[in-house]
Amino acid sequence: MSNDPHANAVQQLHQVAELLRPQYADQADRFDQAITKLSEPDRVIEAELSVKMDDGSTKQFQAYRAQHNNARGPYKGGIRYHQDVSLSEVKALSTWMTWKCAVTGIPYGGGKGGVIVNPRELSTGELERLSRAYVQLVADHIGPWQDIPAPDVNTTGQIMAWMVDEYQQALQSKGQLLENPLATFTGKPVMLGGSEGREEATGLGGVFVLEELVAKLGLRKQDVSIAVQGFGNVGYWFAYHADRLGYRVVAVSDSKGAIYVEKGLDVAKTLECKKKFGSIAECMCVDGVCDPSQGKVLTNAELLELPVDIIVPAALENVITAENAGRIQAKAIIEMANGPVTPEADEILAKNGVVLVPDVLANAGGVTTSYFEWVQNLQGYSWTHEEVISKLKPLMVKAFGEMWAMREQTNQPGRMATYMTAIKRVVDAMMLRGVV
Ligand code: NAD
Repeated sequence: MSNDPHANAVQQLHQVAELLRPQYADQADRFDQAITKLSEPDRVIEAELSVKMDDGSTKQFQAYRAQHNNARGPYKGGIRYHQDVSLSEVKALSTWMTWKCAVTGIPYGGGKGGVIVNPRELSTGELERLSRAYVQLVADHIGPWQDIPAPDVNTTGQIMAWMVDEYQQALQSKGQLLENPLATFTGKPVMLGGSEGREEATGLGGVFVLEELVAKLGLRKQDVSIAVQGFGNVGYWFAYHADRLGYRVVAVSDSKGAIYVEKGLDVAKTLECKKKFGSIAECMCVDGVCDPSQGKVLTNAELLELPVDIIVPAALENVITAENAGRIQAKAIIEMANGPVTPEADEILAKNGVVLVPDVLANAGGVTTSYFEWVQNLQGYSWTHEEVISKLKPLMVKAFGEMWAMREQTNQPGRMATYMTAIKRVVDAMMLRGVV
């Protein structure tokens, strides 16, 4: 694998295509055409955005929107604001979104946007003008039935709110009216058409996967110990729901380090404690009592190598590599972060019999709840928290079951089994449409 994310995404696609090819023996040409088409996004919009700065100067910011494939439905994917955004990254992420949407069967294709910017260097006004300029760039190519952007790294509900407003203004200025402009963006604040349950959806979706995995591995939940790397949105909600259901969450971490409490943490209390102290190093909280003598401080690297049943990387990419994969003691890994395991580590883990639930499946609860937000916006109706969660669970359970069945049928590791299911769905949709 190279350092070029899109080259890696294409290489993955070709590996999976080799496994799927025998199923398309009687349509080999059409299958090859589909794989060739999926090797590049359908469209890439790119331009420099001119943004008026607070000091009166004008600054340029490179912006992208990649629309990878819409055979299964409108393009869907976040917009990232980061100084390391590149065209290759945006194209790769749009490709992975196509697979992620296919995994849970939600009726979307894949898209992704990005702007090369460090948003921490911008004032609120500059951030708003940048976000509005981005919408001006893509306005003709987005919409509830075309492409539905969402937040990603460093983009928030507030940014989605500005974007919705700019999009509506852009349409009005052309004399166009859209019945459901709110349905053009997801991840909006609840007050502006966002969905109940979205905040916890990614972590909770991962816990639905955990429940299925534990049953397949024949474990009893009260015996299962879990270490979670990261205690942000995804890590916290995963740990919280796992704790609530009776699993033993023995370790969690933030950027400063990890804590380990063999008896199992009181996760909600640990968050309360972290908010008070700023870091979790002091927060060995058990049954409502926080006391450092109840556990010990570890590094983030040590957390991954703990003798636990399941590790859950929920922070950064590339944390399990060829260097440390051989030291992983867990029976299984649930990838809640995007891309936490490198391809070289994948091979080592598979050889050592570590079961892996890949990111496109494990963290798909987020995009699935974004889909629910879109459905609610199209209906002009909002569901309760309970309705949202009750609709999320069956989709995650089904997606896990399909991955497991493919894994057993093909003897491939979890990542390949998931990609096979997803890519087959996209290829089949392209064939049904007759676009290949
Ligand atoms: P977040 O910013 O809320 O939390 C990130 C956590 O990682 C924080 O606890 C932070 O302290 C910790 N962290 C930062 N540097 C670290 C380090 N060096 N070592 C260990 N921990 C470190 O982010 P999030 O929304 O929870 O996202 C986490 C991951 O999940 C990312 O890979 C993201 O792409 C992925 N993801 C998020 C969503 C979502 O709905 N938020 C959906 C799909 C995938």
